[in-house]
This record gives sequence, C-alpha cells and structure tokens, in this order.
Amino acid sequence: MTDQELLRYSRQILLPEFDIAGQERLRDSHALIIGLGGLGSPVAMYLAAAGVGRLTLVDFDTVDLSNLQRQIIHRTTDIGRLKVESARDTLRALNPFIEVKTLARALGEKELLEQARRADVVIDACDNRSARLAINTACVQTGTPLVTGAAIRLEGQVLVWRPGGENACYHCLYREAAVEPETCAQTGVLAPVVGIIGSIQATEAIKVLTQLGEPLESRLLLLDALRMEWRTINVRRWPECPTCGCR
Ligand SMILES: [Zn+2]
Repeated sequence: MTDQELLRYSRQILLPEFDIAGQERLRDSHALIIGLGGLGSPVAMYLAAAGVGRLTLVDFDTVDLSNLQRQIIHRTTDIGRLKVESARDTLRALNPFIEVKTLARALGEKELLEQARRADVVIDACDNRSARLAINTACVQTGTPLVTGAAIRLEGQVLVWRPGGENACYHCLYREAAVEPETCAQTGVLAPVVGIIGSIQATEAIKVLTQLGEPLESRLLLLDALRMEWRTINVRRWPECPTCGCR
C-alpha cells in the first residue's frame, strides 16, 4: 500500500481488530452491488471510500428527478443518465484507488450466477422481491456471501447469508409467501431511512470481507424509524427451502 493509501485509510487501520491486514483484505476484495438506488447509493459510496478494491455496479435504469430525494450518489445534472455511469463518476471522484466496473442491464439467471461467482460479497440493493430471490439463489448456488437489505416508508431490514453452517437464506425468511410486497414507488420512503439501512449493509459487507465480528446471520435486523426502535429476530433455516434446503 502506498503512503497515500495508508493516510487515506488511517482512521480505519487504527482499529486494532482491523489494522493493515483488514485494509489489505478490503483492497483485494470484489463486491457486486445490484441496484444503484436508495440503498445502493450509500452502500457503493461507503465501500468505495473504505477501500474495497473492486466494485461491480449493476442497474439497467436511468436517473429520474424523483430519485434524487434519496439516491445520493446521483446529482441533478445526472438526470437521464444511466445510474451505473452516474454512480461510477461519483465513486471515481471519491476514491481513485479503486476499480469500478459497470453493467447497465438486468442480469439473467446465467449472468447473475457468473457475476456472483466472481464476487467476494454480493449486496442486494434492489427494490423487488423477485429480483431478491433470484440474487439469493445465485449466491446460494455459488457459495457467495449475500447482504440483503430493504427499506420502505419509515421501516427497514437487513439479513446476511454466508455459505457453510445452518444459516437461513432470504428464501427461508419468506417461505411460500409469493406476494410481491409494496415498493417505495407506491408507498413512499423517508430519505435517510435508506441511508441508515444502506450504511448497515455496507458495514456488514466490510465485516464479511475482513472476517470481522459477527454478521447478521440467521438474525433479521428490523428498524421502525417512527419510534426509532430496532429489533432483531432469529430466523430459522427452512428445511424444505427450495433454494438452500437440499444442500
Ligand atoms: Zn433457504
């Protein structure tokens, strides 16, 4: 690591449980971020600033005026641009020491598997359940750790899955519940709530990449920002889970 990098990351390297070894692990890591909206914005910015060496950004959408209230990686001048390109420019300005790759399309099953296999961690920052389930399946099949998050109105949640052990995957959480929940386009979301949840996803991703502490495995973290209360509920692995059950 150069002197510039040592200084840039010095406040993190100061943490005894992190140290230079943790910083080097981050530098050598590759995170796949799916969705560059309200959650993906803080996730990508914190992972870039913290020094995750390679980021792959996935989003097919373009920046819309109604995104800017919460998708803080994009600027007013980015309206109409591809979100991945707008995000890449922000991240490069934030930290020139990292590599940023962009995929401006929705990933099909095969490409999702391929991209998950190449990553050390996958961040699910998308906005619908069918995409979340597809991402979860790709992670379980390739054995890639997954940090999934969601936020709506003044509520949010985070769950982590890693291979090995008896961890519940995202599919175990909802079981047969096939009904698509509401999206923030229908119900709204308070701007900083996605920031809180995205920041927790970034924290969990860094913990997974550097093997720090205890990630939110088989524990669903829930936020009720109206009362500003947190709850953690234990999630059991579903033995009949079509995604992780027979493995
Ligand atoms: Zn499962």
